[in-house]
Amino acid sequence: MAAFADAPFGAVALRNLTSAGFSAPTPTQAISWPLALGRRDLISVAKTGSGKTLGFLLPAFHLLGAHAVAPAPAPRPKVVVLAPTRELATQIYDEGAKFAPAYGCRVCCCYGGAPKYQQVKALRALHSRGVVVATPGRLNDLIEARKVDLSELEILVLDEADRMLDMGFEPQIRRIVCQEDMPQTGARQTFMFSATFPREMQILAGDFLDNYIFLTVGRVGSACKDVTQRFQFVDGRDKPDALMRYISSLEESGLTLIF
Ligand code: ADP
Ligand code: MG
Repeated sequence: MAAFADAPFGAVALRNLTSAGFSAPTPTQAISWPLALGRRDLISVAKTGSGKTLGFLLPAFHLLGAHAVAPAPAPRPKVVVLAPTRELATQIYDEGAKFAPAYGCRVCCCYGGAPKYQQVKALRALHSRGVVVATPGRLNDLIEARKVDLSELEILVLDEADRMLDMGFEPQIRRIVCQEDMPQTGARQTFMFSATFPREMQILAGDFLDNYIFLTVGRVGSACKDVTQRFQFVDGRDKPDALMRYISSLEESGLTLIF
């Protein structure tokens, strides 16, 4: 799908894409979309900044079953996107909220460190085409409190799967995927999107995906071309000084984010 018009996303969604200032699908989108729309499980590895979010969101929005659901005691989203941090979940939510109305979908976002009340209210406002973006810990809490029911899930997305594993979320992810309400592999579609593909992720993929397609774009693990990486070797105790010297030498003004 080299052009937006090649994708079956409909006129409103296409207008959204062009009014967002996008001229064509990114390489990872161009390859992920037809595979995801073909109902395949998918692992898509591409560098940060390559547009992976819409790589999974747009097919997910498009594929959702339109059938109405009977009233249930707890909301039953059709798509769950797991992300490692509140910031990432919020970014995915923001991107999703721009496009969801064109598909008749509704998105909500659930993460830890914030009161549950608002999130539970947002979950209840989901309708039959509901999409939940969540961090693993908070989603587990909500499942256990029976505030959400995954029995009608059609698509599960693990975004930044490598980072979720790095951050030690594997037990929480396994709890979510292995709980009894979750449709089995084959009955649901599962996507993993990531910038790298470490060994732990391969094992998780074997357990959670069915006959999947593995797709990589570019050199796995490389940074986006807008990012310059500089490597400097310093002794552990000299790091704060070296960092402060480096920051004060920067010519750009503005904020600095330090990991
Ligand atoms: P990744 O998850 O691969 O790190 P994101 O999905 O966060 O990347 O996308 C990075 C940026 O690129 C976002 O600001 C997004 O809105 C933008 N973007 C997404 N798709 C396109 C496109 N087809 N053309 C131009 N920009 C895009
Ligand atoms: Mg991303």
